[in-house]
Parts: sequence; structure tokens; C-alpha cells
Amino acid sequence: MPAPAHSPAAATPTGAAGDVTPPPVAARTGGFTLPGPVAAFDVGGTDIKAGLVHPDGSISHRSTTPTPRDPARPAAAVVDRTTQLAAAMPGAVALGVVVPGLVDDVRGVGVYSANLGWRDAPFGELLAAATDLPVGFNHDVTAAAIAETTFGAAAGIADAAVVAIGTGIAAGLIVDGRPHRARGYAGELGHTVVDPSGPLCPCGARGCLEAIASAAALARRYTEVSGRPAAGAREVLAARAAGDETAARIWQEGIRALAAGLRQLSALLAPEIVVIGGGLMRAGDDLFTPLRREAERTFTVHPVPPIVAATTGPDAGLLGSALIGAGALTGDAA
Ligand SMILES: [Zn+2]
Repeated sequence: MPAPAHSPAAATPTGAAGDVTPPPVAARTGGFTLPGPVAAFDVGGTDIKAGLVHPDGSISHRSTTPTPRDPARPAAAVVDRTTQLAAAMPGAVALGVVVPGLVDDVRGVGVYSANLGWRDAPFGELLAAATDLPVGFNHDVTAAAIAETTFGAAAGIADAAVVAIGTGIAAGLIVDGRPHRARGYAGELGHTVVDPSGPLCPCGARGCLEAIASAAALARRYTEVSGRPAAGAREVLAARAAGDETAARIWQEGIRALAAGLRQLSALLAPEIVVIGGGLMRAGDDLFTPLRREAERTFTVHPVPPIVAATTGPDAGLLGSALIGAGALTGDAA
């Protein structure tokens, strides 16, 4: 097995061969630092997490409030809530907001969120009109990737993929130290096809990775095949642990699909590390051990990168959002 160039244990940046004086981590990951406290918001399908993130990484003024739902003005309702909360955070030098769905961070537009109901919502304009602070706006999984490459499991690594596995599957891609966004279309790992004759995906295609291996898909497929309801991947794992062969098979198919997805990701972008986040990460060794084994078995050309759990935890989105807000201060498009 080829030795991994950057294991998470070796978090000290060593640089590429011959790079004797590596730049500091922040420089390698795009120069993100906090010049002062940043009012940060991680807008989710259910809740908005808010906090004032300080330069030392600590977070004050924390709150979690239900994401406002206003079918007539879904994005404006979110902007109203975030800017109200930001106004109560003293000393903030910038505002960072990250949202799910398709996001064009360059234009500052929430292109589409099936869950929250907006299309082509001009978040950048709305936020700028509602606050005097410089505003950074981006995608939630990209924010998590920025946090992981700045503070977390991929700190100091210039080419990293942070794969969030929950209801769906999406990847935050850091390429050459920069988030790779491509107008919001990059990183949709969940819609790569891993089995052309596999189950239908809500996107309309057959055999997408997230139709087989997302936490939601594992539960849905187990329920369909066994006739026994599973609310989430946790129930599938519990059934597997109790000797349920259907659960074991569905889980193994998920592992195989994930390894196939990571193989495609490696073939195209060859990340030095794959960081797994999202709800499925909590499966721990039941996920990581067979996934690493399956990757070792199936990768033919590329070395298997270290596949590790995210370490910034539930704060990943907030920390990333703060770094994105700080990027707005320096004109460093996050
Ligand atoms: Zn799909």
C-alpha cells in the first residue's frame, strides 16, 4: 500500500517534496483568517445556527432558531432573521451566511433549494441592503470544507474533499488550496452514477450515489426490501448488528457505492484526503472500516487517500461561514 502523503496525524504541513519552507496553514488554504469577530450563520433545512466567531475560533452569542418559512418570500425571510440576529452581535466586522441547495457564490445567488423553496434568490443583494457589514455568502458544504481545511481533519492540505452524507450526499472540494465552486455546480457527488441499473434518484436519473448510500436512502431501501420501517440509517445499523441479513446487504451495497463514488472523485481530482461529515459519520467504525477496505480493494490506479471523520463537528458550518464572511472583508472570494 502506498504510504499516504498526508495522514491526519501528520497535521503539520510538510509541503510537497522539495518545499522546505511551507507557507502557514492559512496561506495554503486560501489565506482565510479572522481579522475580528464575524457574525456567522449556517442556514439549514430545519434550523439556523448563529454565532459570533472570534479570531481565536471561540464562538459567543450562539443561537439555534427554526428556519423561517415564508412561501411568498422564502429568501427574504431568512435574510430578515439573520440580519436581526447579527445586529445583536457586538463588534462584528463582517457577516457570513451559508445556505443549502445550489448556490452561485460569485453572483451571490441561491440558485435553488427544493427544501427551502427559493429559486434564483439574490441573497448577496438582499443581505447587503439589510446590513452595513461586508457580506460573504456561500454553500453550506463548501463552508464545512473550508472549516475542515483550516481548523479540522484536513488542516494544511491543499487538495481535499469533504463529503457530507446525510439526507443527500454532497462534497465540498478544495483544489490547490481554494474552494472549487464552478458557479455552484461542482461537488454534486451524490448525483454521480455508480450503478446504471440502480434505484431511481429524485433527480430523475437511475443509480445515483445518493439514491443508494445516503443515510436517507439506506433507511428507505431497507424499509422497501424488508417491509420493516426504519426511520434512519441508525435503525439499519441496529438491525445489522442484530443479525438481520437484509440490513447487512443494504449496508454493504451502500459501502460499495460510496467506494465507487470516491474512486470517481479520486480519478478526477485525486484529493490527498477525504473527510466524511454529516449524519452518517456517526456510524463510526461500521462505516469507515469497510469503506477503507472496499476502497483498497477497488482503486486500481490511484492511491487510496486517508478517509477520515470530520473533526469540526456541528460547528463546521458556522466556522466556515465566519471564514467566508472574513473573505468578504479582504475581497477574497471564498
Ligand atoms: Zn440523482
